[in-house]
Order: sequence, then C-alpha cells, then structure tokens
Amino acid sequence: MSDINHHLTDALLMSYAAGTLDEAFSLVVATHVSLCDECRARLEAFEAVGGVLVEESDNVALSDDALDATFALIDVGLSEEPERRIAAPDSVFPTPLQEYVGGDLEAVRWRALGGGVMQAVLKTSGNDKVRLLSIPGGTAMPDHGHRGLELTMVLKGAFEDEDGYFGRGDVEVANEDLHHTPVAVAGETCICLAATDAPLRFKGIVPRIAQPFLGI
Ligand code: ZN
Ligand code: ZN
Repeated sequence: MSDINHHLTDALLMSYAAGTLDEAFSLVVATHVSLCDECRARLEAFEAVGGVLVEESDNVALSDDALDATFALIDVGLSEEPERRIAAPDSVFPTPLQEYVGGDLEAVRWRALGGGVMQAVLKTSGNDKVRLLSIPGGTAMPDHGHRGLELTMVLKGAFEDEDGYFGRGDVEVANEDLHHTPVAVAGETCICLAATDAPLRFKGIVPRIAQPFLGI
C-alpha cells in the first residue's frame, strides 16, 4: 500500500512510454513510477501497446544491416553501463534519482536562493529544466503562474497549495490554468524534484527581478 494521492496524467505516461518526453520530465516520471504501483501499472499497459506498434513497423522497415547495427549499439551500451545503485529503504531519493545524482541527499550541491530555500539544477539534455528544491518547513514559495508545464514531486516533507496536500511520492501537474503558492508544511524541510518546460510567471516584482539570476 502506498500513501500516494496525486498521480501522473495518462498523457505524460504515454509520452514517456513512447520515448518522446524530454529528459527533465522523464526523470520525474521515472522517479514517481518507481514509488507508485498505480502509475507503474498504467505505464506498463502503455508500453505493451507501444511494443506491438514497434514490432509491426520493424517487420516492414528493418534490414539485416540495421539489425546488426542495433545489436552493436546494445553491446556498447551494456559494457559501458555504470554500476546500478539501488536505493536503501531509508534513503530520500528513489533509485532513478540516485542514479542521476550519483548518490542520495549528501551528493547534492545546493545553491542558496535566500530565505533558507536552496536549489540544485540537474544537468539534462534538451531545453526543459529539472531541479531539486529544499524549502524549510513553514516557508512559502513565491506565488506564481506557469507559461508551460510544471511537474513537482515531493521526496521528503510536504507542501500545500490551492490544489491540496502533497506528501512523499505525490506529484503536482501544473499548467497555464494553475496559479499557486506552495507552502512547505511546518515541522520538516520539504525536498522536491521539479521539472519545467518554460520559465515560471511570478506575480511580485522582486521574484521577477531575481528570476534571471535564479534561473527559475
Ligand atoms: Zn502515481
Ligand atoms: Zn508552480
């Protein structure tokens, strides 16, 4: 049984299964799915459908040469695969995130944003951004809207906003329609993994000035 109440959308799971999701968003999806039985089951269903489509197109398009080339790529991939990390039961980061960061919380190089809030932008290919945020309990993030999609998954502690309460494993899918002020629930630092495909839209003048410097 899990206590996860806020899940990924079918659209996100489908694009992840199809391999069309940017690396930043894929990391959040993989991290959520590793903790959430419900989304993993839905993802497996989408992957099964996708697999049938690929098999059918393979029969038409793939020559022997192409197959050899593919196997060659697979060989290289296997020999260079780094040692897999399996998250310990008490770790904050689930396995996909540990593999990305190269460890748990202690491996993160935080940058202070002021007010005790810290962030660490993770390196990804593509234009979308993914970051870790550390927000002291009781602290509000700047009130903001979204130009695009924002996916925020809680790893530790909790936050509340206009859409409800988000605890470990929960993921908030925010788009242009949502204007929110997330507040970390008092008593524990809230650590989140957040992906965005466009800069956030801040209401106050100060965050707007700070935005280019913070890279939010
Ligand atoms: Zn889920
Ligand atoms: Zn937001």
